[in-house]
Amino acid sequence: MSNPTLLILAGDGIGPEVMGQVTRIIDWFGEKRDLAFDVEHDLVGGAAYDKHGTPLHDDTMAKALEADAVLLGAVGGPKYDALDFSVKPERGLLRLRKEMDLFSNLRPAQCFDALADFSSLKKELIAGLDIMIVRELTSGVYFGEPRGIFEEGNERVGINTQRYTESEIDRVARSAFELARRRGNKVCSMEKANVMESGILWREVVQRVHDADYPDVELSHMYADNGAMQLVRAPKQFDVILTDNLFGDILSDCAAMLTGSLGMLPSASLGAPNADGRPKALYEPVHGSAPDITGQGKANPIACILSFAMALRYSFDQGEEATRLEKAVEKVLADGARTADLMGEEGGTPISTTEMGDVILAALDASL
Ligand code: NAD
Repeated sequence: MSNPTLLILAGDGIGPEVMGQVTRIIDWFGEKRDLAFDVEHDLVGGAAYDKHGTPLHDDTMAKALEADAVLLGAVGGPKYDALDFSVKPERGLLRLRKEMDLFSNLRPAQCFDALADFSSLKKELIAGLDIMIVRELTSGVYFGEPRGIFEEGNERVGINTQRYTESEIDRVARSAFELARRRGNKVCSMEKANVMESGILWREVVQRVHDADYPDVELSHMYADNGAMQLVRAPKQFDVILTDNLFGDILSDCAAMLTGSLGMLPSASLGAPNADGRPKALYEPVHGSAPDITGQGKANPIACILSFAMALRYSFDQGEEATRLEKAVEKVLADGARTADLMGEEGGTPISTTEMGDVILAALDASL
């Protein structure tokens, strides 16, 4: 059998720095766990623009559609701020998401005990937190028509349209239920069915999918505004939160920040399954290219490393190896390893991006 394929798009700024550590970890799994990947590297964002005059070359897009999973670092930076909108680095990322039809965005909010003091919430509310937000990513109010700014009488009106088809709700609901079965087996679906027809349809379809195919998963429904309150009041009540594009944008940022630094947050975006049953998938840290620290060895590689752990679990069905990697990260944090972004008030000496890679690799060795 041939090895699974990974396309690595390190991108701009700290992207290549954090991805450098992920590459070492990928090699480790090949050498020590008999889990080899065929890895190909290519350009995205500003780096692709510099070489090709476009933030995503057609050949790279074709490779992304072929690969079993895509790992992306970060795109953008001040050098590209003045570029025309059509060739800005972010357009490369948007094209990937659109053409891979990545409709299900997974954003975990997980609190490592060693970092519980970083949260703005009380430690007991946050320690051990492990929730997953599933956000619909390709429809809803960010894409619905009509949209625009129009003349109406003697003033202008700004219009966006919240629009969901039953099939769009159906497929993202399935992705949340499948995910819940691999975790705590609970889904809380959030919308505003009290004031929005699209919310009424959302609730109906989610319930229908549940009753037909996932009756074993515990399902509840909540209005999204109450969901926001509950997230900061008692976040541990949730396992998987399923929500639309707009509410998901806000709720996932809110949930992520419960846990502290941007340098810790992974994400996955999944599409429809290929012929072999694997969903099209893009894994990336939530953070950007961090131009303020680029090239200084200060970047925290953990968000990108945990994104690879998600790839192991969701694209390659290697849940045990994903847990091994997550436990290695947990161990080095418990032992006090900190990049600069994780330095609390107690002070100490931060370690570099590469040193964080070193200690995680050592913890992986120790796990054998
Ligand atoms: P950013 O996420 O790059 O940085 C925000 C702050 O967090 C900075 O102070 C940065 O130093 C810090 N930070 C981020 N990641 C870190 C890490 N791994 N380790 C340590 N510190 C980290 O957001 P920004 O400054 O608003 O944007 C910078 C550029 O990145 C812009 O061009 C923006 O468009 C782009 N961006 C890209 C993505 C993406 O590629 N998905 C996401 C957000 C922003």
